[in-house]
Amino acid sequence: MRSYSSNEVDLSRVFDVVVLGGGNAGLCAAMTAREEGAQVLMLESSPPEFRGGNSRHTRNLRYLHEAGNDHLTGAYLEDEFWEDLLRVTGGRTNEQLARLTIRQSGDLGSWMVRHGAHFQTAMRGTLHLSRTNAFFLGGGKALINAYYATAKDEGVEILYNAEVQDVGFEENELVSVIIGKDDPKRVRCKSLVAAAGGFQADLEWHKQYWGEATDNFIVRGTPYDTGKVLKALLEKGAKPVGDPRQCHAVAIDARAPKYDGGIVTRLDCVSFGIAVNRNAERFYDEGEDFWPKRYAIWGRIVAGQPDQIAYSLIDSKSIDLFMPSVFPPVTANSIREMAVKLGLDPTALERTVNEFNRAVRPGNFDPNALDDCRTEGLELVKSHWARPLDTPPFYGYPLRPGITFTYLGLTVNERAQVIMNDDQPKPNIFAAGEIMSGNILGQGYLAGFGMTIGSVFGRIAGKEAARHAIH
Ligand SMILES: Cc1cc2nc3c(=O)[nH]c(=O)nc-3n(C[C@H](O)[C@H](O)[C@H](O)COP(=O)(O)OP(=O)(O)OC[C@H]3O[C@@H](n4cnc5c(N)ncnc54)[C@H](O)[C@@H]3O)c2cc1C
Repeated sequence: MRSYSSNEVDLSRVFDVVVLGGGNAGLCAAMTAREEGAQVLMLESSPPEFRGGNSRHTRNLRYLHEAGNDHLTGAYLEDEFWEDLLRVTGGRTNEQLARLTIRQSGDLGSWMVRHGAHFQTAMRGTLHLSRTNAFFLGGGKALINAYYATAKDEGVEILYNAEVQDVGFEENELVSVIIGKDDPKRVRCKSLVAAAGGFQADLEWHKQYWGEATDNFIVRGTPYDTGKVLKALLEKGAKPVGDPRQCHAVAIDARAPKYDGGIVTRLDCVSFGIAVNRNAERFYDEGEDFWPKRYAIWGRIVAGQPDQIAYSLIDSKSIDLFMPSVFPPVTANSIREMAVKLGLDPTALERTVNEFNRAVRPGNFDPNALDDCRTEGLELVKSHWARPLDTPPFYGYPLRPGITFTYLGLTVNERAQVIMNDDQPKPNIFAAGEIMSGNILGQGYLAGFGMTIGSVFGRIAGKEAARHAIH
């Protein structure tokens, strides 16, 4: 794959459209703007091998469809889609933008295929999503590579290692962008699309809200989403949207790398055993609901525990019930031995497990239903899938909060224009993807919807940016 260096792209030109960020949203915007006839430059802060931001970690996307096809098992219509979104956000969503996203997702399947995407045939076991969500063959990385190839063929110019430091508005309506730290360069354009993700990789920024606990957070995705573009535009008067304290955070394997561990560091065992904190005490109902519906709240729950660490414990009855972990579990033949291996107080852990085991009521265990296996008499109930931990070997997994993305973003209108603090849209500044998803996701998350928002708003932003620049 050819990458341009800043010597090869003539930066003295005034570009029609400059896209900041080369993830899904940026690529959708860049390809669309180019197809509208604009000269397009995409600035990506990573080197080519790490391009694609968080988008390269994705696996699927949710889109409206009237019937099943070879990669979706049945229809998914607007009313159901909207209800699903309403439920997860608790109504904290901009209905106009949300419904626009849902409606305009209807042709995404074919649009994506035209731009190089391949979907895989629907499978069982994919988080029960085979009707609503289409899975990318080869995952997000294959999708992103295909988009880069298409963008290049279409004539989008791409500059890697081009971290945007600042964005400025010039008097003649041109936008100037400063790239590079050591040898800063100015890029000028008629329209700008901000698609540089959230600020989840800037742990210092998180510290404002989470304090020292931040040191124990793990960033599941790219280290390049540091929020510099978001910060620059907010400083220039863009109107913020979304709660800066809110983020999508899941409980992941504590042995995951600090950044970019991706999807494989997730652990799906929690609901089949008990979870204890550093004091060897349980702290939340592990069987409240199916894990895919609960794992996204567990990041914050673990973040609230001492030292932001927890341990999921199961016994041999459950080891084959979930997706195998990428890191092997800690194995022990007794609870005491497990405590020693995890660095927990053995007496305290034995007490917790014994109390739990005594409280388990007989029931019909069914991992595929909200079954009747529950505890009775404990202050902290386990509602489903409660079985005594009594059959060695025992398995233990350390858990840490893993941040997926942040919710603070830029307010936009239905043309993807960025709204300023005076509530007026900036005519030539557009935003797409994670950087504006807080308009639609005020809280909660709907699996596969991040890519929907980025794809729909990427296309809108690209089209509008090109039109503004050319006409
Ligand atoms: C492990 C994991 C799994 C996920 N799975 C799914 C899934 O299956 N389905 C789904 O819908 N969502 C999923 N998500 C969420 C999804 O990744 C995001 O919603 C989506 O990728 C956001 O796309 P984006 O283009 O806005 O941001 P990104 O893909 O993160 O792209 C932003 C780009 O901007 C670049 N950038 C950042 N700052 C600068 C700067 N200052 N200058 C220049 N460039 C900059 C970055 O390098 C990056 O390439 C997942 C996230 C993670 C972490």
